[in-house]
Amino acid sequence: MKDIVYDNTGIQNSTEGNKKSAVIIIGGGIIGLNCAYYLQKEEYAVTVIERSDITHGCSFGNMGYFSPSHFIPLASPGIIAEGLRYMLRSTSPFYIKPRLNRSLAEWAYHFWKNSNANTVLKNAPHLNNILQLSRQLINDIRDDIGDTFLMEEKGCLMMCREQKGLDHEFRVAADAEKFGLTVERLNKREVQALEPDIELNVTGAVLFKDDCHINPGRFMIVLKKYLEGKGVQFKLNTTVTGFEKQINKISAVITDKGKFEGDEFIVATGSWLPGVAKMLGIKLFLQSGKGYSYTYDQVQKNIRYPAILKEGRCAMTPWGHQLRIGGTMEISGINERILPKRMKGIYESVKSFYPGLQIDPPSIDKIWHGLRPVTPDGLPYIGRTKKIENVVIAGGHAMVGVSMAPGTGKLVTEIIERKKTTVDMHAFSIERF
Ligand SMILES: Cc1cc2nc3c(=O)[nH]c(=O)nc-3n(C[C@H](O)[C@H](O)[C@H](O)COP(=O)(O)OP(=O)(O)OC[C@H]3O[C@@H](n4cnc5c(N)ncnc54)[C@H](O)[C@@H]3O)c2cc1C
Repeated sequence: MKDIVYDNTGIQNSTEGNKKSAVIIIGGGIIGLNCAYYLQKEEYAVTVIERSDITHGCSFGNMGYFSPSHFIPLASPGIIAEGLRYMLRSTSPFYIKPRLNRSLAEWAYHFWKNSNANTVLKNAPHLNNILQLSRQLINDIRDDIGDTFLMEEKGCLMMCREQKGLDHEFRVAADAEKFGLTVERLNKREVQALEPDIELNVTGAVLFKDDCHINPGRFMIVLKKYLEGKGVQFKLNTTVTGFEKQINKISAVITDKGKFEGDEFIVATGSWLPGVAKMLGIKLFLQSGKGYSYTYDQVQKNIRYPAILKEGRCAMTPWGHQLRIGGTMEISGINERILPKRMKGIYESVKSFYPGLQIDPPSIDKIWHGLRPVTPDGLPYIGRTKKIENVVIAGGHAMVGVSMAPGTGKLVTEIIERKKTTVDMHAFSIERF
């Protein structure tokens, strides 16, 4: 056990060197690692407890976008109708598996209640705050830990095949401009000029110029190595199974490898947030949304720009000769089942937008999947809980966990330090439902 001392500010300090309190982070996904990054900068003694070995979770095989352009939450007008329309198609990009399950029913009720224009208007500025903060911070992180995760700052194309879709994206572009983002509205010829090597089948696109992309798997590996170098402890292949409570505080986490004591505890367990929160007596509405991706290692004539294919509801990210295609949102509970037909649907969408792209259909054994943590209103949970003094929750980032990771890490650190936060946090409250 470590010795605890108090300084005259009332802040607990451990006697391990000149470090401040001991902070335990549960969950070593991109959110957990970014919390560790900002906490170690403030001299906290940080331990990350992770059930796996940090090489294949949701934070690894995703598309790697940092997207300030994604300020519209998933729960938005039309999404329910779209979900119902797609539900019966096995290749569909959005799917809610009907099943008798109380937590799904409660989540679906809140999702439905939030899928309206007023809630989107209310929530978009809060999403925008963290997205823009993160977009600035990723440049600082790159400068700090090294330019080794294939970051490119060329923006992201929102490709539209139909005029109706393009008109909608032009309206989104106008909203983006109100948030201070830079956009370019492109007709068919102008989009083709950006991709001169590959024949396209689109009506037009919007280029969101502030977006950038990274290789998320590399980022995770490089960041973990950097953190280890800075003294962050990693307890891998270690599963949290409970907590040791003292009135309204936690004194230790209990794991399958023993007990770990700390002063502050951060729960960043992605799709597994409700289960871990329940161990603390906290109820959170959250469902996992499965997505798939497939990576081609050698594409001779590759695309030059990352792109989201609007009507195809899927995405593409190039890194040199490497190409990743991915998408789908399958609300089917926590399971590792892969439905190859969904990946086939993504491949077919890609081929219909980029008929000139020479790629083979995905082989089943190389399909990657990840579980996005999806809240009912499209905003993450970030903050302390009223019930327990020394626990901070950080999760539920859904489709934009990469894009919001540095901002979340910084804000969580400010919360731990009991400082005024860089952005207004009330919309991310744990107790908002
Ligand atoms: C196909 C796809 C494409 C995507 N593309 C993008 C994109 O381009 N840009 C973007 O911003 N976002 C994207 N996302 C979303 C993004 O990947 C997620 O939002 C993000 O990875 C979530 O990070 P996390 O740290 O909250 O969760 P996770 O990465 O799931 O990490 C949580 C960790 O907690 C661990 N854990 C759980 N329970 C316990 C326990 N009891 N004890 C110990 N450890 C535990 C888990 O093992 C896991 O490693 C995409 C997702 C998918 C599926």
